Amino acid sequence: MRVFDAIVIGGGLVGAAIGYGLVCAGLKTAILDEGDVAYRASRGNFGLVWVQSKGLGAPHYQRWTRASAAAWPLFADQLGERTGIAIGHEQKGGVQLCLGADELARRCATMEQMQREAGNFGFDYRMIEHDELAAMLPGLGLAVTGASWTPYDGHANSLALFHALHRGFADKGGSYLANCSVRAAVAAPGDFRIEAGGETIAAPKIVLAAGLGNAELAPLFGLHAPVRPQRGQILVTERTNRAWPIPLGSIRQTPEGSILLGSSEEEVGFDTGQKPEIMQNIARRAVLSFPWLAELQIVRAWAALRVMPPDGLPIYDESERFPGAFTANCHSGVTLAAAHASLFALMVAKGALDPMLAPFSARRFDVPAAV
Ligand SMILES: Cc1cc2nc3c(=O)[nH]c(=O)nc-3n(C[C@H](O)[C@H](O)[C@H](O)COP(=O)(O)OP(=O)(O)OC[C@H]3O[C@@H](n4cnc5c(N)ncnc54)[C@H](O)[C@@H]3O)c2cc1C
Repeated sequence: MRVFDAIVIGGGLVGAAIGYGLVCAGLKTAILDEGDVAYRASRGNFGLVWVQSKGLGAPHYQRWTRASAAAWPLFADQLGERTGIAIGHEQKGGVQLCLGADELARRCATMEQMQREAGNFGFDYRMIEHDELAAMLPGLGLAVTGASWTPYDGHANSLALFHALHRGFADKGGSYLANCSVRAAVAAPGDFRIEAGGETIAAPKIVLAAGLGNAELAPLFGLHAPVRPQRGQILVTERTNRAWPIPLGSIRQTPEGSILLGSSEEEVGFDTGQKPEIMQNIARRAVLSFPWLAELQIVRAWAALRVMPPDGLPIYDESERFPGAFTANCHSGVTLAAAHASLFALMVAKGALDPMLAPFSARRFDVPAAV
């Protein structure tokens, strides 16, 4: 039997960030990962470190996202230095473009509500009108009525981030066990055992970070993770000159010059297919925003499945029945990578989730029995 301080199930962005944080905190850690057959949101995302749309009606989510955004610069520097992998992280703010008067009015109301709900914590934003925006963003289309801006937003090369987290984990002595699909476990408080590749892997702590796989795994550990797939499609243009200094919500340019256009939100179960009408709509909005984009060739396009909790907010929990078992689920694994590596992993290492994460418990989905 191989004994570790902690086991992480799932080696996507969430599991890799937590595993990396655990080895950095000195825990002997194993990541058990299903392999290339898996649905992996971490391979198909948009790469935004995005704050401004997170937490409407749920200010605790805004605070958690802001904590991650604040931790990102140091996290990216350290990860880059340790692994030699350039993560392409930039965080100089971002704008969300609005097409038409209705979208702009809705965005104004959303941002006002976010600021109201933030209370003393504060929420720094500005609505920018078309003319000012056109001076900031060359080639802006007339259909763009305005935008919201916050200083917190940014972006990164999420595949490089994914690679760096795995390399950082391995360099710090972490054990990555590939092709290891967990379907069963022996669970007791502070004692978890899993059969993997002909041997038993044991640890007093376990973190379920298996993305969409968490829905089936959670009950084995007295946990609840009712996540569902939500499809998103993304288009990528050929490389072109640097057009904008910051990401624009559903449009962002990589430091290498490609422009990513995205991304849809489709309820289609586990279907990872691409749909021309959705791709057309993504391209249409992009060209309305910047007519010159129509001149660029689309060189790649894909679909991937988000890991979506019922209310869109992350689910973090520790098992009451089996203390030592934790779960982490979210649809913003790039944005929250810094919080997972530096805050969540430390909580697991210490053996208890911070009360700031209590509102993220899946207990919020328990419907009280009707009297
Ligand atoms: C189109 C799209 C755009 C997105 N854009 C952004 C963005 O701009 N910014 C942002 O912050 N987030 C974005 N996201 C979300 C982000 O990609 C996800 O939040 C993140 O990748 C989730 O990571 P994960 O590790 O939870 O899941 P996954 O990447 O799905 O990984 C789950 C892992 O668990 C493993 N696994 C599953 N079941 C088992 C099992 N039984 N045993 C062992 N291993 C198992 C799998 O092998 C896999 O490696 C986007 C997602 C999509 C789809």
